[in-house]
Amino acid sequence: MTDNRYLVALSPGMPTTDGAGVKLTRMVGTPHLDMVDPFLMLDRIDSDDPDSYIAGFPNHPHRGFETVTIMLEGLMRHNDSVGNDGLLKPGDVQWMTAGRGIIHSELPEMIEGRLKGFQLWVNLPSDKKMMPPSYQDIEADRVPKVSFEGGGARVISGDFMDETGPAISQTPIRLLDVRLDAGTAWTTEPDDGNDLFMCVYEGEVSGTDVEGNRHTVEAPAVAVFAGQGPVTVTAGPDGAEILYCEGQPIREPVAKYGPFVMNTREELQQAVDDFNRGTLAAG
Ligand code: MN
Repeated sequence: MTDNRYLVALSPGMPTTDGAGVKLTRMVGTPHLDMVDPFLMLDRIDSDDPDSYIAGFPNHPHRGFETVTIMLEGLMRHNDSVGNDGLLKPGDVQWMTAGRGIIHSELPEMIEGRLKGFQLWVNLPSDKKMMPPSYQDIEADRVPKVSFEGGGARVISGDFMDETGPAISQTPIRLLDVRLDAGTAWTTEPDDGNDLFMCVYEGEVSGTDVEGNRHTVEAPAVAVFAGQGPVTVTAGPDGAEILYCEGQPIREPVAKYGPFVMNTREELQQAVDDFNRGTLAAG
């Protein structure tokens, strides 16, 4: 055993299509890499071909979890059944707690240029799955930035160094957008018992497995860590950019069907019935 967290899985993600034909890469939530509790899914978009994103994600429902949209480049308009309407710009974060039900659309507000960002799905514990839906629209300048030797981070949610991220998560998590300069060895200490993965989206890092063997994680790829104690990754010769996702596992059964994530098949059926009856996002 070791006193440090260690690499247990690497995945380059899986190209897929969602919404009205948006091409994206599913980084977490694939046959190769199932959820990293409490994170159900991570999708990554990075394209300068409008045909691959222009149709966006027209009206669709969600129930039972939270969706987090992190825009890096481009513009995305959202609208929902609760009456929210907003425009996500580079650096903005949108945190939607679907709770018992919401119907929304997510449409690129651009006809050319590069669309780059993430959508992360964070599970809700059973006692919060049917909570009222809510939104947090967080503009880029509200996301604190911290610096450390050889890099820096935007603190989106949770505590890091002397900052607290503005996004309030129903499940304790720490979500950071980290930048490492070439060759930086970055060590941080996740909370005891938390699960952790990093999505390397630019450059590369390396980390060690339980036997001390070093592996390179070249963008785009997800690295999952296990064990306890601090975690260290070392940036490659061109540095690295990383979405750092750490959270307290919920450890409950997960029943998934498309945009619904509940605990049992019966609850999924209820979600489908409510949607078909038009009551999913009512009141
Ligand atoms: Mn959605």
